[in-house]
Amino acid sequence: PEGFLSVRDLSVRFATEDGVVKAVDGLSFDVERGRTLGIVGESGSGKSVTNLTILGLHNPHSTTIDGEIVFDGKELITATERELEQLRGNRIAMIFQDPLTAMSPYYTVGRQIAEPFRKHTGASKQEAWNRAVEMLGKVGIPNPAQRAKDYPHQFSGGMRQRAMIAMALVCDPDLLIADEPTTALDVTVQAQILDLLKDLQQEFGSAIVFITHDLGVIADVADDIMVMYAGSAVERGSTDQVLRAPRHPYTWGLLNSMPRLDSDLSAALAPIPGTPPSLLNPPSGCRFHPRCTFQDRVGGNRCVTERPLLGADRSSACHLTTEQKRSIFIEEIRPR
Ligand code: SF4
Ligand code: MG
Repeated sequence: PEGFLSVRDLSVRFATEDGVVKAVDGLSFDVERGRTLGIVGESGSGKSVTNLTILGLHNPHSTTIDGEIVFDGKELITATERELEQLRGNRIAMIFQDPLTAMSPYYTVGRQIAEPFRKHTGASKQEAWNRAVEMLGKVGIPNPAQRAKDYPHQFSGGMRQRAMIAMALVCDPDLLIADEPTTALDVTVQAQILDLLKDLQQEFGSAIVFITHDLGVIADVADDIMVMYAGSAVERGSTDQVLRAPRHPYTWGLLNSMPRLDSDLSAALAPIPGTPPSLLNPPSGCRFHPRCTFQDRVGGNRCVTERPLLGADRSSACHLTTEQKRSIFIEEIRPR
């Protein structure tokens, strides 16, 4: 059964002067209406490229895309630019880390929220303006009728983020893609924005793909989690499953590098040693093997020669047995 958004065996390759970069390699996932999928990974894991590919914002000349992206029954990879333009900002909306990349400095905030509404619904100028003011109110901008006349630079960072969310949601999108939407904000504003997204999802019933490098943020908003490493998914499951009983050594590393409220902060911060691999020349076998300390438990040099694959549903792409994954986590990772 296909999801509302269904990605199957997606591969995205870029031709560069140095060779072909495999930014995304064999990625599959589904997102349903009213649910949030959290995609977690370091920069270079392919999470942002996946998002841009769904939106059709890749460069078609240097990029090769294989696989399927089906949104509400419509195949997006083969869609025309015109068809994609009809979807973007209307049925599919996006919010980014930096609102200034999405907003123009030359137009008022109200106008920038009203315009996409007018374009996609055919509303009058006045109706669209009223709608913009209403949306600014919904995202918690005080005195929205007045603030709608301001320019983006007159808003604080947190306010701009709210305005961008208003802009993204003005057409009541069925799918919202949020790429590190709170990364640049302080913790208090970040929490407010996450609450806001949850409330708005309740109200609009959108499917949300929430992309972040921060498992702590994901814990707060996502129903399901997919962990990406070097262009592929290494683990997925419900948020509860992945956070309580993670089954991949990379996820263990991410959890270990997450500060915890109930423990000494500095002691909890143990980053994963090493750096993400080059996608020009990815490691053989398991792409995580150069950074993994559990290879000897697998035996032979299987981790170096054989690529572990992600199965269906609750699964992790690692050669350790399910029993090993369980016991290593309980006995060695969790207690720290
Ligand atoms: Fe580590 Fe091997 Fe599992 Fe990869 S397959 S995560 S190298 S134990
Ligand atoms: Mg990114």
